[in-house]
Amino acid sequence: MGTLLAAPDLPRDLARDVSLAPFTTIRVGGTADALCVARSFREVTAALAWARDEGMPVAVVGKGSNLLVDDDGFRGLVLRLAGRLSVIVVRGAEVWCGGGASLPRAVQRAAAAGLEGLEWGASIPGTAGGAVVMNAGAHAGEMKDNLAWAVLCSADGRRRVGPDDLDLSYRHSSVRADEVVAAVAFRLTPGDPQAIAERLAGFRGHRRATQPQGVRSFGSVFTNPPGESSGRLLEAAGCKGLRIGDARFSPKHANFIEAGPACRTADVIALMAEGRRRVREAGGPVLEAEVRYLHPEWGITRPPLPELR
Ligand SMILES: Cc1cc2nc3c(=O)[nH]c(=O)nc-3n(C[C@H](O)[C@H](O)[C@H](O)COP(=O)(O)OP(=O)(O)OC[C@H]3O[C@@H](n4cnc5c(N)ncnc54)[C@H](O)[C@@H]3O)c2cc1C
Repeated sequence: MGTLLAAPDLPRDLARDVSLAPFTTIRVGGTADALCVARSFREVTAALAWARDEGMPVAVVGKGSNLLVDDDGFRGLVLRLAGRLSVIVVRGAEVWCGGGASLPRAVQRAAAAGLEGLEWGASIPGTAGGAVVMNAGAHAGEMKDNLAWAVLCSADGRRRVGPDDLDLSYRHSSVRADEVVAAVAFRLTPGDPQAIAERLAGFRGHRRATQPQGVRSFGSVFTNPPGESSGRLLEAAGCKGLRIGDARFSPKHANFIEAGPACRTADVIALMAEGRRRVREAGGPVLEAEVRYLHPEWGITRPPLPELR
């Protein structure tokens, strides 16, 4: 980490010129001008207000499991959550999490307390906050099914919202890039611990059988078009195993990109563009990126892929 910055009311963990690759699961991309770790609602709000006053764009990074950082990094402030904002507490039939808490860990805590409903999140390697922003889901379950409430922080303060306030749909929410999901509560149902454990084992086994393991990736590259599977379309267009630079479409599941040791973000973007072009050329739909992209100036946006008709 770089030099600590000094400014009133800011979290203590604020550093300059921080490499972001280690904060993502694909482990590529450049350096952020500033990175701040916030441990309370107050620290989150202070960091956002400081960035606004400095005219700096802000990007929140959870586990970076759905994030591609530009090779030129980010001329802004990256915010991460820790301490009290990463704890998990069981309260009756609810599980309360800091926005930075691990989703798979929350699933484990729910299961240990005999609460069912959250099993879909067992193998989604993100944070509770990131899962709200993405309306993450799997195995026919999604965040929308279980969210009781969330606390959103902005530079002006915080507010508590319910699922109906967030416009949750397939890999979409209305949470803005300058807002932070600082706490999340899941509403669950008491269930049979044995049945919950079996469901978890079944979901995990299915993952191991169908998706690449132990590789640098960010999960699904493209969302599934209505009634279709992007993996199937990419495979039919000859993309399985296709390589550009040191990035390749996984030989196990074509909608995953695996990064090799020399991979750069530019390789990943070029491969995404080529996969999308091939699917379209084969008569398929224009695929939409699921992964979010951190642009050097604009902050969180969509990966820069060419227009296709
Ligand atoms: C192996 C693998 C398997 C995966 N399987 C699935 C799957 O089955 N289903 C699925 O839906 N996803 C899956 N994913 C993708 C990813 O895990 C999810 O999208 C997850 O919800 C992202 O959470 P994160 O904390 O890593 O967010 P990040 O990747 O850090 O960020 C993603 C977006 O959320 C924003 N964000 C993150 N945290 C916050 C916060 N606290 N407040 C405000 N904004 C925030 C970021 O700014 C960014 O826009 C998979 C990823 C991998 C690597």
